Amino acid sequence: MIPSSVIEDIRYRNDIEDVVSSYVPLKRAGSNLKGLCPFHSERTPSFVVYRDTQSYYCFGCGAGGDVVNFIMRQENLDYVSAVEFLARRAGIDLPDFSDENREREGPSRTRILQMNREAAKYFRKMLFDDNAGAAGRDYFVNKRGLSSLVIKRFGLGYSPMSWNGLRNYLSSLGFTYEEMKTGFLCGQNERGYFDYFRGRVMFPIIDLSGNIIAFGGRVLDNSKPKYINTSDTPAFKKSKNLFALNYAKDSGEDTIIICEGYMDVIALHSAGFTNSVATLGTAITAEHARILKRYASKAVLSYDSDAAGSKATERAIGFLSDVGIDAKILVMDGAKDPDEYIKKFGREAFGRLIDGSRSRFDYLIEKTLKKYDVGNADDKIKAAGEICREIASVYSKVEREIYVKKAASALEVDPKSIFLDVEAAIRKAERAKKKERSGELIRITSGISDRVNPDFVKRPKTARLEEDLLGMLMIHPEYISVKLDGGPAVSESDFFTDLGKRLFSHIKAQTESGTFSTGSLSEKFTFDEVSRAMRMQNNRRELTNDETAYLTYLEEIRKENAKHDAKATLEDIISHKRAGN
Ligand SMILES: [Zn+2]
Repeated sequence: MIPSSVIEDIRYRNDIEDVVSSYVPLKRAGSNLKGLCPFHSERTPSFVVYRDTQSYYCFGCGAGGDVVNFIMRQENLDYVSAVEFLARRAGIDLPDFSDENREREGPSRTRILQMNREAAKYFRKMLFDDNAGAAGRDYFVNKRGLSSLVIKRFGLGYSPMSWNGLRNYLSSLGFTYEEMKTGFLCGQNERGYFDYFRGRVMFPIIDLSGNIIAFGGRVLDNSKPKYINTSDTPAFKKSKNLFALNYAKDSGEDTIIICEGYMDVIALHSAGFTNSVATLGTAITAEHARILKRYASKAVLSYDSDAAGSKATERAIGFLSDVGIDAKILVMDGAKDPDEYIKKFGREAFGRLIDGSRSRFDYLIEKTLKKYDVGNADDKIKAAGEICREIASVYSKVEREIYVKKAASALEVDPKSIFLDVEAAIRKAERAKKKERSGELIRITSGISDRVNPDFVKRPKTARLEEDLLGMLMIHPEYISVKLDGGPAVSESDFFTDLGKRLFSHIKAQTESGTFSTGSLSEKFTFDEVSRAMRMQNNRRELTNDETAYLTYLEEIRKENAKHDAKATLEDIISHKRAGN
């Protein structure tokens, strides 16, 4: 474990306001700061940073925590790596804690990154091996026409047809089979550990700090699967990472080109379109969109034009426009992918294709018009309905006005009626959203489907008192030793929910060994549990939290528990009597 004095120092030197505002623009709101939540998509800020408690809380999605927790979520790091990240940021030298961490919870991120670097070296060496790498070189150089410069820039490699080449190489460097399995380089069957990647050209995935976090491997024949990608590991989450974003972020362009595959991206980069990226064996996610928003305000989607591709395009547009990225669709004729297009028609032609890419709305209107026969009145009404809902989802009023005119002329109706329908659709969507939100709130506060504190539903009234008491203790940990008239100070037995008991024990242990800070929660509790704890604290924020109030809650909890115990005893006696008969 990292000593708490070190953690406190790191927290002290990483002011939460500074750290958060390097990711999220924050505005002053009273004595706090407010911004758009980086963990869910929203247009009205509900993400608050509290300077006094050095914590954050989102009233939209419930995420909350301290600066370490923020970095864990934002940078997708485990606790130790997040602490290391912040130490580096503040210029503090840290001893290596990764070994201890490894013993506790499997290979650490640091260890996997070291292993990946070695694996990438091995794959590269194999690619240039006279015998083993011939097939790989044939693919990259002869079939795809890549220069040695591009091969080097992307760190491309080859995994030979061997069941244990990489395994033995990494083992000779001191990596364990268990580490190789966790890092998704080896699999395990009844005969032992074996190389996952065999006979594939290899694409390392590099994060923004230059770490090799994962690999993609493509077969050279028709065997399946065509691609193998690293699954999620302690160093990699595919929903959060993009291929070549490490280069694209420095392209100086405000537009990002999003393609389907590694080879599309490499071909585009070779042709000078260094602002292109690809997702990694997954469709664009909301997280991808939020990450891209940091680097670009426009995106061009270059997906396959088949049914799967156009479905992926629509979903991607949704996520991108949710975060305010203006997404357009590239429509390509005469070639199946960007690589082939550039080879056939040249890079200038592809540049013109990008300039002429269709706006989201034009694309959607085109699709809707294809689906319906607007000569038929019924069809026309349906088409108008779909288009109006689309226009209603556009945030900018000016943009909406433009679309209303376009839609009216495409459907040959009066713009005024389209306008009215759009207004109605906006109101309807708002009502639905409000209802959804309040429904969510009711579910949480009433404890129905309470994943985080599953015991809550058993005795909601007492559980609510418990959460209030814990919230107060997190603000005033010193109350922990205050005695109630005619009774002892608070103890673990005063809590009946498992989460309550664990939170209390943690606060108590921390208070006894020095000071409690909400930041220490991130080490022991899950994200959801930390968020819940932050909610308990925030719920007490505007209320009176003096000793009298605290003791009133404690007394109330004890009364409730006594009532419950008495009832339980009574039931016990009754059931014993029945059993006796
Ligand atoms: Zn949020």
